[in-house]
Amino acid sequence: MKSKINAVRERITRAAEGCGRAADSVQLVTVSKTMPIPVLETAIDAGVRLFGENYIQEAREKHTALGARDVQWHFIGHLQRNKAKYAVRIFDLIHSVDSLRLAEELDKQAGKSGKVQQILIQVNISREASKSGIREDEVLQLARDISGLEHIAVKGLMTMPPFFNAPEKVRPFFRQLKQLRDRIRSENIGGVDMDELSMGMTGDFETAIEEGATLVRIGTAIFGERH
Ligand SMILES: *Cc1c(COP(=O)(O)O)cnc(C)c1O
Repeated sequence: MKSKINAVRERITRAAEGCGRAADSVQLVTVSKTMPIPVLETAIDAGVRLFGENYIQEAREKHTALGARDVQWHFIGHLQRNKAKYAVRIFDLIHSVDSLRLAEELDKQAGKSGKVQQILIQVNISREASKSGIREDEVLQLARDISGLEHIAVKGLMTMPPFFNAPEKVRPFFRQLKQLRDRIRSENIGGVDMDELSMGMTGDFETAIEEGATLVRIGTAIFGERH
């Protein structure tokens, strides 16, 4: 596993430096959904410090088992409001906020824990009916609405473009997300930073880095195919 992790890190470094960015401007989120706890332990021993998980129940078990280790957890799946309280306990960053109602519930739960929950707004940039996320033209308003919530800090945007085998076909979606990010940043909304762009997976992360990704979410290239 160590050689796979190192190979991914090297590809991240090469992609970043290839377009004039510092390698440490891109964080690797190791996507461990469906992987059992011993596999995560091996990954931690191989140097992984940040896991991305998609399912709350699974993440709770892993967090309980591994919470004492020096690792961070990001939530990248679809979050139901009735699971918000668990999400707030476990995750340093929630990538998938796509409604004011969800943000309000997270705010309430974060307030109870005395925490400021960091989030990203998930954008359905390709407007596929099957994808989570809000439409591009709704993001600015949502950012303004969330900025009024005391226990939520918006850190940027996330997207899942359609799956194409050719990374060049997803490039326009990554570029669009960055342009949207820049537009919202120029509004200088209080409590809304737009520093993070979560985009890029195993099949297309180098393209995402070229288009400005700061968080790449990679599972298969590290753990192999999920079954
Ligand atoms: C599973 C998943 C990933 C990782 O995908 P790979 O192709 O295995 O790298 C990234 N982001 C999200 C939201 C996912 O659900």
